[in-house]
This record gives sequence, C-alpha cells and structure tokens, in this order.
Amino acid sequence: MSLIQKAKTLGRFAIDLVFPVSCVICGKEDQFLCPECQNRLPRLEHQKCIVCQKSAPFGKTHPACSTRNTADGLICALPYSHPKIENLIRVFKYKFISDLSNSLAEIILKEIKNQNLEEYVQGFIVVPVPLHKRRFAWRGFNQAQLLSYRIAHGLILQVDNHVVLRTKNTKPQTKLTREGRKANITDAFALNPDSMIAGKKFLLIDDVVTSGATMNEIAKLLKQNKAIEVWACAVAHG
Ligand SMILES: [Zn+2]
Ligand SMILES: [Zn+2]
Repeated sequence: MSLIQKAKTLGRFAIDLVFPVSCVICGKEDQFLCPECQNRLPRLEHQKCIVCQKSAPFGKTHPACSTRNTADGLICALPYSHPKIENLIRVFKYKFISDLSNSLAEIILKEIKNQNLEEYVQGFIVVPVPLHKRRFAWRGFNQAQLLSYRIAHGLILQVDNHVVLRTKNTKPQTKLTREGRKANITDAFALNPDSMIAGKKFLLIDDVVTSGATMNEIAKLLKQNKAIEVWACAVAHG
C-alpha cells in the first residue's frame, strides 16, 4: 500500500468514526442508501429519447431523431427533478460519498434488466464519462468511473477508462440552459489515439443526463471513428 493510499484509508477510518455510515435519506445506520429507501425512490415512468426527450420504447433513439452524431439509446432510472434524487446525486458527487456508487449502480442495473437490454448490451465496452484532470484531482474520484466498474461487473462487460479524454474543464451541465450546455461541451473531449474503436460497441456511463449533449458529443467522436453502436446510461435524467 502506498503512503497516499495509507493516508486515505486512515482518513476514511477517521471519517467513519466521526460520521458513522448511515442512509442519506432515512438516517438508518450501516448503509449509505438502505434497501427500503432504494426501493421507495421514485422511478422514471418511461425511457426517453436522447435527442427529443420524448418517450422512447427501451430508450432507443427514435429513427427520425437519430443521426450519425447521436447515441443510439439512453437508459436512465430516476427523475433528477425530484428533490430526493437531486439531493442523493449531490451527496454522491459533492460530499465525497463514493460508496454510494454501489447502490446507484444497482439501480441502473435493475433498469437495464427492466428494459430487457441485458442480452442486448453483451459485448459492449463500458466507458465512464471522464472528468477533467483538474476536477478529478479536486474530487479524488470520478463518480462515473465508480458506477462503470460496478455496472460492468453486473453485466460481465469490460471497462475502458482511457478511450475518451476530457480536454476542456467545463462547467457543470445541470446549471446551464439547453443552448449553454451544447456550447459548454463542444470540443470538450478527444479520443485516445491508441484506442481501438472501429467495429466496437460502447456503453457510456454518467451520473446524470440532462439534455444529452455530453453523451452525444462523445457518441459523435466514437462514431466518427467507426464505432458501430453507442448507448448511454445514467442514474438520473433531468
Ligand atoms: Zn434509508
Ligand atoms: Zn426522439
């Protein structure tokens, strides 16, 4: 164990002593999100098209909305606009409760199963939406990466952490207007020149999808490099 890892473990231990692990919703001890609260969270009533945001069976992008630059589908589980969900995501991202990733990944996995897409995504490569290195250094973890490992484990897929690079330190998308989001994210990513993309299928993972601009920006890059299919997945849609 490196010195940094030791310090982190010690720090974590100290944090656990001061703040015992408890459910972020009901306060019951032992888990950050207890099974009861997890089951009681409001769910999205239907999957939405990543382009027009209207209802879409299985989350598949409507044929009329689909272009070479858009993701082929989107799976989300929870409505971001619900105060409980917004708070849950905020705690996960900004209060550094990285352990919440297990419960949140489980919620996504359940939704993939609900949509009968478990078989469909076989062979896909799981790719977390990357953070800019400065934000990664500040937060200490990439929440999308934590979700990705857990989701990939649940679906028996591989994770590729290096295929997409974030070249621009953008503002958080949830705080911008629809037009602002698009401008904010344009040219924010690049592909790793060493990655094999042609002929592959990708499953992009993030915590929240808002307008779909981030996911579509990455999908565009992957498809320009001959990826055959790109789907997106997030805990919440807002
Ligand atoms: Zn609870
Ligand atoms: Zn549509």
